Amino acid sequence: MKLVVQVRLLPTSEQAAALEATLRAVNAAATWVSALAHDRRVFRNYDLRRHAYGQIKDTYGLAAQAAQHVIKKVADAYATLHANVRNGNVGKPGSARRERALATPIVFRPGAAHPFDDRCLSWRMNARMVSIWTTRGRMRSVAFTASAEQLQRLAAYRKGESDLLYRDGMWFLIATCDVPDRPVAAPDGFLGVDLGIVNIATTSGGVRYSGKGLNAVRHRHRELRRRLQAKQTKSAKRLLKKRRRKEARFAADTNHTIAKRIVTEATRTGQGIALKDLQGIRDRVRLRKPQRVTLHSWSFHQLGSFIAYKAARAGVALVHVDPAYTSQACSSCGHVDTRNRPGQATFSCTSCGFAEHADVNAARNIASRGVAVWAVSHAADDAA
Ligand SMILES: [Zn+2]
Repeated sequence: MKLVVQVRLLPTSEQAAALEATLRAVNAAATWVSALAHDRRVFRNYDLRRHAYGQIKDTYGLAAQAAQHVIKKVADAYATLHANVRNGNVGKPGSARRERALATPIVFRPGAAHPFDDRCLSWRMNARMVSIWTTRGRMRSVAFTASAEQLQRLAAYRKGESDLLYRDGMWFLIATCDVPDRPVAAPDGFLGVDLGIVNIATTSGGVRYSGKGLNAVRHRHRELRRRLQAKQTKSAKRLLKKRRRKEARFAADTNHTIAKRIVTEATRTGQGIALKDLQGIRDRVRLRKPQRVTLHSWSFHQLGSFIAYKAARAGVALVHVDPAYTSQACSSCGHVDTRNRPGQATFSCTSCGFAEHADVNAARNIASRGVAVWAVSHAADDAA
């Protein structure tokens, strides 16, 4: 499994100036190569190298390795764009959006992320330093901060290129780690996990993770956006962007913590984890409140993917189940009735009288569907 580890660099002012000059140079070079690619309709890495290599080395003062990275970055960006166009992600054929995307060359921001391979960047974990190539020469001792867990992961599994980027006044390196999955243990039952807005996650074990903190941050952010959007000034836009990132970071931290606890609960009890099929959630909720849901569905997907990779790392089985009627069905007798839900938080079966917190009831339904899904998908294993 591929994991990214983001570490913050702590450059001296001289090092920061060199990093800034470097990102500026490589992104200016990339924008230039991009214009050339667009102009001559040459998009493949190898072909572009023939057209651009000599000139970007001379004009932008890039080392051979860096020049090749610039060209590859441009080729990759166009490959992604063209794939998006093919898959209809940039609008229908003939639409203004699609025409615009194809008519103008890709432009790289001065601070856009740039890849560094092992020849341009080396890591000294014990010293918490990197040595990195810049247009002002090699910077041999740029300090970085990382948690003990991150350091250990970097030391054991880091592989390939790392991206250097500048964001909100800070420098980051984003490294990719190739972490081996643990073999999945045969589960002793399933822990059902229901995702929601009031409670972000609820397990069939009865643990509820409140969405209060996250919803408060979102609410404050929405208010601020309403006020700032009226202004339309540059500084208002900048502030909005900063707040959006801050909110996303807070949501990601919250999701990480919840995912970690859920996987720990499953590990401790020897259970697998059953999640609602997220595609279903998105489709159903979109019918009601289109605006708000994009945000929540994005966050649900993130939490789902955090749980998935933490489960894979821990060797915990994971299944996705059909979410239909999980909130209206009684987890004790199976009776389905909208009147089983007299209130947002309460479940009370009109047939057998079973009562439980509504989200816990839903999580219990998800858990039993998890058992069924696992049994079906592993019937072949048993037969073999
Ligand atoms: Zn019942």
